[in-house]
Amino acid sequence: MKPLRIRIVGGSLAGLFAGILLARDGHDVKVYERSSSGFAGRGAGLVPQQEVFHILREIGVEHLATFGVVSQDRIWFERSGAIARRAHMPQTQISWDLLYSTVAARLDPGAYVLGKPVVGVREEAGYSLLEFDDGSTESADLVVGADGIGSTARATMNPDTRNSYAGYVGWRGLIAEDRLPKAASVLAGDFAFYVAPGNHMLGYLVPGPNGEIGQGQRRYNWVWYRFVDQGDLPALFTGTSGKTFELSLPRGELSNERRELLRVDASRLLPPPFALAVEAEPTPSIQAIFDYEARHMVGSATALVGDAAFIARPHTAMGVSKAAGDVISLRNHLRQAEDLQSALKAYEGERIEVGRKIVELGRQLGATALSSLDRTPIVRPVGMAYLGPFRWK
Ligand SMILES: Cc1cc2nc3c(=O)[nH]c(=O)nc-3n(C[C@H](O)[C@H](O)[C@H](O)COP(=O)(O)OP(=O)(O)OC[C@H]3O[C@@H](n4cnc5c(N)ncnc54)[C@H](O)[C@@H]3O)c2cc1C
Repeated sequence: MKPLRIRIVGGSLAGLFAGILLARDGHDVKVYERSSSGFAGRGAGLVPQQEVFHILREIGVEHLATFGVVSQDRIWFERSGAIARRAHMPQTQISWDLLYSTVAARLDPGAYVLGKPVVGVREEAGYSLLEFDDGSTESADLVVGADGIGSTARATMNPDTRNSYAGYVGWRGLIAEDRLPKAASVLAGDFAFYVAPGNHMLGYLVPGPNGEIGQGQRRYNWVWYRFVDQGDLPALFTGTSGKTFELSLPRGELSNERRELLRVDASRLLPPPFALAVEAEPTPSIQAIFDYEARHMVGSATALVGDAAFIARPHTAMGVSKAAGDVISLRNHLRQAEDLQSALKAYEGERIEVGRKIVELGRQLGATALSSLDRTPIVRPVGMAYLGPFRWK
């Protein structure tokens, strides 16, 4: 197949992986990312699987896989803070930020265009047309939709599918290791859980913002899953700036009053080490949990990769590896097929079942986690009225 003019929507990991691998095969590639500043310092950690190693090796940065923080055991707390169970399950978390910045630096700077939101993708006879928010358009032989959970590109092939809210959110914290109080030092070194009616919490160390893995330089990442009615999400996701976000409440948007209520909840409902970790986080964020399954991963001149195609719940820890697997498959089929249509068909044939299975795995893992989430908490958190419509059932 002759080199194609390929335009990629979304410049996070899936878009960057695609941009690099496809440019290396001689295609004319550009990645359009709506964020104007990129994502340095915005991620936490991830558990790399073989697809990620494969791409790192291919682009000559396999050393990244060794810059990880290892949690040795999985531990489960009792409410008192005593450890009820311990299992030796070593797991390495590498730095999302270091992966992002290293991979972004491998793409020709002229091919990575920041601050360029795509507002529409239209398939015409023999090409796809990108529409930008400034009113300009651009045509491409192939558009790769790597634009994640709120994908614009997916709508072309999947006009009738929507993200499906799973019924709960994850409150998230990411704090410098040296902010963890001494009384919570039991949290460092292991992958910790607390599972009880009304609560599902976990936490572990990840590398520092620049990939640091030395003691004292790492960060503690915690997630506290809690039920929220879908109708209450707009209120929950309205931040101090007055803006209402659709899918999450970013860091820095939670009011001091609501952060204080979260701390009160934590001290009443969580084991002391986790309550201290919540208290130590000055700017918690909230992420609603969704499932999404694309009915079609490809059109006539468009292909979806990563979260644009399938959203699996965070319990799977497979989002980045799934994205890497999609990109490797798309690249391989573009290499092997005689024409674009055959390549796209073969790509979808190989990846659609994989995506469906990972989403299903996320549902099953979520159901297990949720079975611990009784909709009636043991103690109704005090001051909940201040949260307006955000309430326990
Ligand atoms: C800032 C950030 C931090 C993350 N941190 C972690 C982490 O620590 N651990 C982890 O496991 N996963 C993390 N993830 C998620 C993880 O990267 C994804 O689940 C997985 O890699 C799939 O990536 P993706 O590129 O398909 O989707 P995403 O990572 O969600 O990226 C989608 C990209 O598309 C861009 N975009 C969306 N719409 C448009 C549009 N209309 N026009 C142009 N661009 C658009 C978004 O700004 C975003 O950069 C993070 C994602 C982001 C964006």
